[in-house]
Amino acid sequence: MGRRKKIVQECERLMDNPDHIRNIAIAAHVDHGKTTLTDNLLAGAGMIADEGEATRLMMDTEEDEQERGITIDAANVSMTHEYEDTNHLINLIDTPGHVDFGGDVTRAMRAVDGAMVVVDAVEGAMPQTETVVRQALREGVKPTLFINKVDRLISELQEGPEEMQQRLMSVIGDVNELIRGMTDDMDDIDEDWTVSVEDGTVAFGSALYRWGVSMPSMQATGIDFGDIIELERNDNRQELHDRTPLSDVVLDMVCEHFPNPLNAQPRRVPRIWRGDDESELAEGMRLVDPDGEVVFMVTDISMDPHAGEIATGRLFSGTLEKGQELYVSGTAGKNRIQNVGLFMGGEREEVERVPAGNIAAVTGLRDAIAGSTVSGVEMTPFESIEHISEPVITKS
Ligand code: GDP
Repeated sequence: MGRRKKIVQECERLMDNPDHIRNIAIAAHVDHGKTTLTDNLLAGAGMIADEGEATRLMMDTEEDEQERGITIDAANVSMTHEYEDTNHLINLIDTPGHVDFGGDVTRAMRAVDGAMVVVDAVEGAMPQTETVVRQALREGVKPTLFINKVDRLISELQEGPEEMQQRLMSVIGDVNELIRGMTDDMDDIDEDWTVSVEDGTVAFGSALYRWGVSMPSMQATGIDFGDIIELERNDNRQELHDRTPLSDVVLDMVCEHFPNPLNAQPRRVPRIWRGDDESELAEGMRLVDPDGEVVFMVTDISMDPHAGEIATGRLFSGTLEKGQELYVSGTAGKNRIQNVGLFMGGEREEVERVPAGNIAAVTGLRDAIAGSTVSGVEMTPFESIEHISEPVITKS
């Protein structure tokens, strides 16, 4: 069986298992390394042949697949990752890197339950870091932190262990200040969402040279900062990658620290939906019930030259299937679903059905726009998504 077919089968198997699904976003200030990190994750998960080739391969496939009417949408990618002997389905939604796309960033946040905040170790937290952290927290999305470009501290800035540690701790401190400022008065969060090295909610590394470390990874591999400084200084980056590959460290962190839909939805739904919390609809969303009414939140509309408009979003309840007639908030009448799909690797793959807890791609919803609530029965729509404008950050 070809690699693609295997991936498709595995994604289809995992989509019925919400406890092994993680819906996540990577959020960063422009140039801090989001694209390079995404390439690493796809390659590490076996979705593309090798790191650095992601973009090229996706484009190659695009030409190939257009013949067959399948689109590549690099904005949404899914991958599988084995963590603690269990395979997980990780749906990653891209967040546009530019401040003008603030609205899109927030929309992407609605579809996910976890956000990996990427910060460049040299530049530190920047205005857009603050924006994305605020957007994530406002949507009830849990943050973790990846500090990227650590290679530059060693090779370019020639920092020693103490200087490095000070710098990294100061980045963590800045990010935690943002998190604390937002979560202090969020009474629906019953755990501490600040990030820490000890808890394993912070990872460090180099997306360019494809190595990474976290507290759990250091314990598992025995590789510490001393080894990293030595190997990086001696230009042994390949060895560093082989011994502590970034994708494993980051995807382990995703599986361990981001909530699955079953944990996330009961907390997130009251935050984003003001309907009757005693209703069957509310119950269906809380339980991520595949047999409940369809409740689908559209976060993005894209154009496919063959399939037409594709509505991508988060299915909070029910099961999407071809031929269903669904209400679209703010419009009269119903739309009929033509096809349903999942993203696998970077490609949209049509499937028979998509159950609650997943990110689905649907055709036929001609009245839907980004932000629409699509449902099997008429219902109170989700809260509109607020755009958060760029803050003025004062760096200490
Ligand atoms: P994005 O705008 O956040 O998607 O950032 P990119 O992934 O496009 O990276 C921006 C630039 O930083 C590119 O030139 C990358 O090669 C470079 N870069 C990304 N990660 C690293 C890293 O870990 N170390 C170094 N030295 N450069 C990096």
